[in-house]
Amino acid sequence: KIEAGRIDWELEPIENPADLIDHVVQTFRPLAAEHDLALKVKTTRPLPTVNGDSDRLIQVITNLMNNAVKYTPKGGSISLITDETAHAGSRVIRVRITDTGPGIPDEQLEAIFDRFHQVRQADVENKPIGGTGLGLAICREVVNYHGGRIWAERPPKGGTCVTFIIPVGGEQASLASGSSQIH
Ligand code: ADP
Repeated sequence: KIEAGRIDWELEPIENPADLIDHVVQTFRPLAAEHDLALKVKTTRPLPTVNGDSDRLIQVITNLMNNAVKYTPKGGSISLITDETAHAGSRVIRVRITDTGPGIPDEQLEAIFDRFHQVRQADVENKPIGGTGLGLAICREVVNYHGGRIWAERPPKGGTCVTFIIPVGGEQASLASGSSQIH
């Protein structure tokens, strides 16, 4: 539906995005506890207003948190850090979700955002657990629509860190058209 431009975006000013992010993360506490994972949350407050589709941004955070829980073995930890920073001369809100899971091989850090791409078990011990390989492609669509960026890294200590940034004010988002392509 996203590819065909058949979804309606509901852009509105999100006045304190920290509330939205905290709300989503709190819903993961029981699941994290069930999987014996520590969940650390650090949110800068207040964060500036962004122009966005809150339901779709909630979906992005939900997908990223789901992956972190799904791929991190028991006893590990997940941290979510939200702050405001500068990116290429613009003010942005930045959300980083880091886990202590098996990590993603360097050469696949970009490909995981392609539709249906799943890291093979032979490459790393994180075989797909009932996934579709669509979650991150959808995340990228939503973030791109907001004029932002999303990428994955392998922190030096191991695990996976997925970061997304959304421009403050969101002028690009308000100028964007209703359809977009998956990159
Ligand atoms: P899936 O439904 O397979 O989870 P995604 O698009 O969300 O689809 O993710 C694509 C692939 O990227 C996953 O199949 C997995 O191999 C890898 N991946 C995503 N997030 C993580 C993570 N936090 N740790 C390790 N591997 C991950």
